[in-house]
Amino acid sequence: MSNTIPSALRFAPRSGRTFSTSVQRDATWGFIGLGQMGYNMAKNLRAKIPETDTLLIRDVNEDSMARFVKEASETARSSGAGVGTSEVLVAQSARELAEKSSVIITSLPGPQHVKDVFHSILRQGDLPALDQERLFIDTSTIDPASSKEIANAIHTTCQGHFVDAPVSGGVVGARAGTLSFMFGASSQTGQLLDRVRAVLLLMGKKAWHMGAPGAGVAGKLANNYILAISNIATAEAMNLGIRWGLDPKALAELVNSSTGRCWPMEINNPVPGVVETAPASRGYEGGFGVSLMNKDLRLAITAAEESQTPLELGEIARGVYNAVEEEHKGKDFSVVYKWLQDRSQ
Ligand code: NAD
Repeated sequence: MSNTIPSALRFAPRSGRTFSTSVQRDATWGFIGLGQMGYNMAKNLRAKIPETDTLLIRDVNEDSMARFVKEASETARSSGAGVGTSEVLVAQSARELAEKSSVIITSLPGPQHVKDVFHSILRQGDLPALDQERLFIDTSTIDPASSKEIANAIHTTCQGHFVDAPVSGGVVGARAGTLSFMFGASSQTGQLLDRVRAVLLLMGKKAWHMGAPGAGVAGKLANNYILAISNIATAEAMNLGIRWGLDPKALAELVNSSTGRCWPMEINNPVPGVVETAPASRGYEGGFGVSLMNKDLRLAITAAEESQTPLELGEIARGVYNAVEEEHKGKDFSVVYKWLQDRSQ
């Protein structure tokens, strides 16, 4: 197991305290939300933090937590970790997890889930002081207004730093530890930015500082607005080409070396068999759920309205995702192709 920890993650005292930096203290990390993304991110985190550190986990789904603990202990055993090291413990609540952890990472479905979790952490008053100032990193895709509201609640009550750091790269990237993060954090202290980057790079390969709190989720929503529309355009163009008699693989290859190239065509192609690793080739299972895509589009449209910015295609795309979600809930968002195909007959 790797134990090379970046210097930004080594013991750093809270301001005003006089701990010696030569003292090595074992840290406790917290991870809330072990879904398609979070489960894999937390696994990479456990593999990369020092064996003597502890990982606390929390999810409303008890089965996910039990599966995680079991898998982690099997991995630790097979890699020869010493007894009592590479620990993963289940927290009984988000509050308990936050009380004990100096870094708390969340990966939750949407704004209400994130607000509920932070409300449950903060409503019982001040968290006990730790050696290191708490760092809360929310990797969920939520709207800038909700994210700034939570950041404000953490900062005004002096419970630590809150950073919005949504993620790109999907379940495949989460598993491989190759995610890209875009984060929003006050750059007043370079030390904070270094610490955030060091944590994120334990789960991914890129971490962009986009600006002040809320800038990470704003960047993510702009990206996913494009994704929502390019996914529909790809499904429509593939359906059209196939109905004209073109070979699907030949069409995809042509587009991927022409100006229509995009992620839904190249990596997540919606036609079964065109890209073997894409969800379409396994019954649209796994991947990025159509409900999550619809949620991100809704958040982008609402945020655009709040800033009086016109989006001509947003509502049209929303109509498509509403209909597809109703028929194919739980499937990857590329299932738009199947929905179109059914309507074409
Ligand atoms: P998911 O629905 O698979 O996982 C969410 C997890 O949160 C579930 O395990 C659920 O039980 C848990 N949860 C819900 N409420 C909770 C609470 N109150 N306390 C503790 N746990 C709770 O979602 P996901 O696909 O892992 O996505 C997580 C976030 O990442 C979303 O905001 C999504 O938009 C974003 N995202 C997903 C992908 C993707 O490809 N799946 C890609 C980029 C970003």
